[in-house]
Amino acid sequence: MRPIVLLGATGSIGSQTRDVVARNGWDIVGLAARSASEELLGAAAEFPDASVAVADPTDEGRRRLQSALGARVDFGPDAVDALAAHSGAIVVNGIVGAAGLRASVTALESGNRLALANKETLVAGGPVVVAAAARGGGEIVPIDSEHSALWQCLVGERRGDVRRLILTASGGPFRSRTPAELEEVTVAEALNHPTWSMGPRITVDSATLLNKALEVIEAHYLFDVSYDAIDVVVHPESIVHSMVEYVDGAIIAELGAPDMRLPIQYALTYPDRMSVPPNRFDFTAQNLTFYEPDTETFRCLALGYAAGRAGGSAPAVLNAADEVAVAAFLEQRIGFLQIADVIEATLDTVEHGPVENIADVVAYDAEARRVAAQWIAGTE
Ligand code: NAD
Ligand code: MG
Repeated sequence: MRPIVLLGATGSIGSQTRDVVARNGWDIVGLAARSASEELLGAAAEFPDASVAVADPTDEGRRRLQSALGARVDFGPDAVDALAAHSGAIVVNGIVGAAGLRASVTALESGNRLALANKETLVAGGPVVVAAAARGGGEIVPIDSEHSALWQCLVGERRGDVRRLILTASGGPFRSRTPAELEEVTVAEALNHPTWSMGPRITVDSATLLNKALEVIEAHYLFDVSYDAIDVVVHPESIVHSMVEYVDGAIIAELGAPDMRLPIQYALTYPDRMSVPPNRFDFTAQNLTFYEPDTETFRCLALGYAAGRAGGSAPAVLNAADEVAVAAFLEQRIGFLQIADVIEATLDTVEHGPVENIADVVAYDAEARRVAAQWIAGTE
């Protein structure tokens, strides 16, 4: 196994990646998180050879971490970047939010394999990321379960034979609710995802379908497929992880129990597959159902397609506005339905333009955050 660097080591993807690595007897050479925590100390103890980076240089746990880890720990975004540049590494990016973009670009410019959970990397900086991979010779392999599925359905096929990608969506906890019913939903209800256990932002995004919007844009950049050829179907059981339809009408799907450890492991071992204890899927235990998404109630999906088609700065603005809106929702400053309002207002307000480098993305991201925060403050 190549050296593994784990960014976002304390999150949902981070802990499941540590599980996969430990299960296979591999090692981790670098661990990064936003702030010092017991969990990060635990991860550093579990992988004693790993250098540790904490993104926030002003973190209050800094002293404690320094006394526990000495020269193994470093602080600030440059320290995270240095891990992403580790020679010959597979860099698992499990950072949440557009904050993950810079390390992704560094990993690709360094010629590394980027095992990508941080979908915001491709949403906010798609053209910049594709260019970085071409420049540095790095490769992107997806961890997001739908994209891992699409990727597995594409292996060995000719790209020219693809008619469309079909992303499945669980529909989240509020599937089939009306706008009136969504008016009063609580944070606890939104955080109660029916099939996946994930970090708070992506869980709320799954409830609004904004997560699926981000994934449509992610698929566009990952597989170089036009938005007209990317469809979404709601599939509440989350067993079919996504599908590819070919020009002859054949549809290839990847199926299994919802468990992120499979896509994480495949991203690390590709093109090999590692044996794990069998967990046989029982086809007779349940029905698989599929529905058209309700984009009138769940407006975020339509906003995402529109932002994707607009290209340039629009996806970065969409993502940044959502990061601010979800944080405000979690703080109970806005209601669930207002998340889409914040995104729409921000997309309407921030001037559209091209993104050619990280600085462009960072500028649009900052402007969108400012506009979104102002919109929210205006409602209070
Ligand atoms: P999470 O909130 O559980 O964890 C986020 C991690 O990122 C934490 O370790 C945090 O310390 C770290 N972090 C935040 N800012 C950072 C920074 N600037 N530098 C370094 N580390 C930083 O989130 P999660 O659910 O694990 O999701 C992570 C990413 O993976 C997201 O982009 C999400 O959309 C994607 N994803 C997650 C799942 C899942 O099952 N959790 C599935 C598919 C995709
Ligand atoms: Mg997903």
